Amino acid sequence: MSVAENLNCVKATLKEGVELVAVSKYHPVEELQEAYDAGQRTFGESHVQEMVAKHEVLPQDIRWHFIGHLQTNKVKYMASFVSLIHSVDSLKLMKEIDKQARKVGRRIDVLLQLHVAKEETKFGFSPDEVLAMLDGEEWRAMQGIRIVGLMAMATNTDDEGQIASEFGAVKGLFDVVKSRFFAEEPSFKEISMGMSGDYMVAQEHGSTLVRIGSMIFGDRDYGKPFAV
Ligand SMILES: *Cc1c(COP(=O)(O)O)cnc(C)c1O
Repeated sequence: MSVAENLNCVKATLKEGVELVAVSKYHPVEELQEAYDAGQRTFGESHVQEMVAKHEVLPQDIRWHFIGHLQTNKVKYMASFVSLIHSVDSLKLMKEIDKQARKVGRRIDVLLQLHVAKEETKFGFSPDEVLAMLDGEEWRAMQGIRIVGLMAMATNTDDEGQIASEFGAVKGLFDVVKSRFFAEEPSFKEISMGMSGDYMVAQEHGSTLVRIGSMIFGDRDYGKPFAV
């Protein structure tokens, strides 16, 4: 099946109001162009250099979402164009995004990444940490960022019950954060959760953004350098 056919199959399974982020990391620009020609405008990348290179050669109306672990020293390369950063996992990173966004006269939308999976390797705030960070008022002064929701990854497991309980916990925390800190902010409305293997479960638990790669573009070839 072609990229366009895969894309249409995935889109046919999305609930109303759920936005598709086509995760194109490690795939060459020709494949992104094919998805673009089939109507896709939102793409997710997890390496800064790769996203910058693709942004330079692909149509300018693409919305680039950054979904990977982000080092503070790389924020400056994408501050001028990134449309949403899903993976904000520290106050230090928020400060840097704020600074770089103000430098280019922007306010960048971000999601706070939560750690809910039973895996040591996943980045993110714990539920307690995110509440403590928001209780501290520092973020309120950051004119260069706008917090528009939460992001999370479930444990990589076949146990659908566990995935469902993790996504359910994210939705529960989203509701708490919304009512405590963003009740007056209609822009705080996004829950980024769900990948190729678990997005149907995520949709049942209130996901508004699903990040889907391999179902659209096929397997990634990690052996190749960034294929731009
Ligand atoms: C790679 C990646 C995805 C997409 O994963 P697939 O299983 O290919 O759909 C989603 N979210 C994040 C954070 C990723 O790094």
